Amino acid sequence: MIYNKRMLNNLRKILTITVLSGSFTALSASPIETPNSPSNEIKQFCKELSNKLGTVKYQGCLTLGLQVATTRSVEDRPLTYREYVPETIESVPKRPKGRILFLSGIHGDEYSSISITYLWMLAMRKHPESTGQHWLFLPLANPDGLLGQRPSTRMNARGVDLNRNFPSPDWEQLALPYWKHFYHKNKRRYPGPEAASEPETKWLVETIERFKPDAIISVHAPYGLIDYDGPEHATPDNIGGLEHKELGTYPGSLGRYAGEYLNIPVLTLELRAAGTMPTEKEIYNIWQDIEEWAELKLKRKETDF
Ligand SMILES: [Zn+2]
Repeated sequence: MIYNKRMLNNLRKILTITVLSGSFTALSASPIETPNSPSNEIKQFCKELSNKLGTVKYQGCLTLGLQVATTRSVEDRPLTYREYVPETIESVPKRPKGRILFLSGIHGDEYSSISITYLWMLAMRKHPESTGQHWLFLPLANPDGLLGQRPSTRMNARGVDLNRNFPSPDWEQLALPYWKHFYHKNKRRYPGPEAASEPETKWLVETIERFKPDAIISVHAPYGLIDYDGPEHATPDNIGGLEHKELGTYPGSLGRYAGEYLNIPVLTLELRAAGTMPTEKEIYNIWQDIEEWAELKLKRKETDF
């Protein structure tokens, strides 16, 4: 059963406003629903983000209710998050909620993945209860990669590919040799001097330990597919027009660390282009399929109690 109609309707409305007309006036004029006014730091963050990404609007970003983590990026930018907790809502059947960690922008030059997450968070803002899941969004895991340099970089400010820096048990033995021999020291895949050497990676690891997600969804571009690592029961079908293909994992990748080592379902969305957004219909379809996946494939958790 899908009971997310209100959020999907809201998403449809947002997409119509932002994608079709290219204007955000109608939404940004609506009352701000977050309990506290955004801090100066969030204002600065939203300013930088909206200057960089055409889809992200300053006023819209302010309404997301972003929180700032205590850990900061290498260049001292805030690491931001937003939790959506559906517990108090009557319309949702009483059952243990899935906890889903939603990550984007771990690679700073994959613009579409960050923009699409922003749109989904706007939709979530109005009806967080409608999915029945407990979401934790980290909309920009590598802010220095996106905002620190022109052009933006895949890596963080120290040139580390954060998606090779996770402390998988084989990191010490394999990460650097693998980078040297398989990637011929390609700078875009540098795993770092040691496992979890980067503050951004440490923060992601701590977040996983603290939040204990039932699933992790990570958005990337531009391979145009779905990848999955983790327990069999949550293996996805296609998501939107993206087909499920196994890419495999690497020493220090999120898939190897969280999917294979911690046995958490890790769903990776690879959008088709880094610089161009999917169509409105595709954005909508992807979200709908993500919710269906969470609803159907993570259901096993109900019997764990
Ligand atoms: Zn990526």
